[in-house]
Amino acid sequence: MFDFLRRREKETTDARRGRFLAVIECHLNQNVRDDGTARFPAMNVDFVRLCERYGVGLMSIPCPEIEALGAERRRPRDTTIREALENEPGQSRCFHLAERVAARIDTRERQGAQLVAIVGGNPKSPGCAVHCVGKGLTDESGVFMKALETALNAYGPPRRFMALRDHDQAALREDLDHIEEALAADDR
Ligand code: SF4
Repeated sequence: MFDFLRRREKETTDARRGRFLAVIECHLNQNVRDDGTARFPAMNVDFVRLCERYGVGLMSIPCPEIEALGAERRRPRDTTIREALENEPGQSRCFHLAERVAARIDTRERQGAQLVAIVGGNPKSPGCAVHCVGKGLTDESGVFMKALETALNAYGPPRRFMALRDHDQAALREDLDHIEEALAADDR
């Protein structure tokens, strides 16, 4: 049996419920977004309130575009952000960030916490798009999300990835409903 399954059986001795989502930074801090892409003044409040309602903590994943390219998204002229992340050194930086995040998730799980899902971003996000088929991510997914999937798979069974799209209201509502279903189904 995977260690992952045993870890969930560990009891906690204080108020924490031990469940968490790993979520990309911009849902919690819109200031990290590239110019013209922020949808909220500060954060996705509906998402944060939903997590509070279900007693689920939030592990913030540092913005991979900033990690790889800096806050200015520096890259050669006529190079898209996606191309800059797919080429060196962008890909290595995404990979190293993914390794750090995966190790941190694994550590928390070893301490008895339960990762409910990894929450990514909009469908065209170069770093954080989440497009799933079965339990895996497709090539349309963001460069960082694919690196994170690979890094996490080294620690155990495939993890659940979920999109949280905010580029339009209908998509946002749909994704909040999916996340709520996951939180409710996983409630113990
Ligand atoms: S979607 Fe990912 S890369 Fe884009 S701003 Fe959010 S955290 Fe950064």
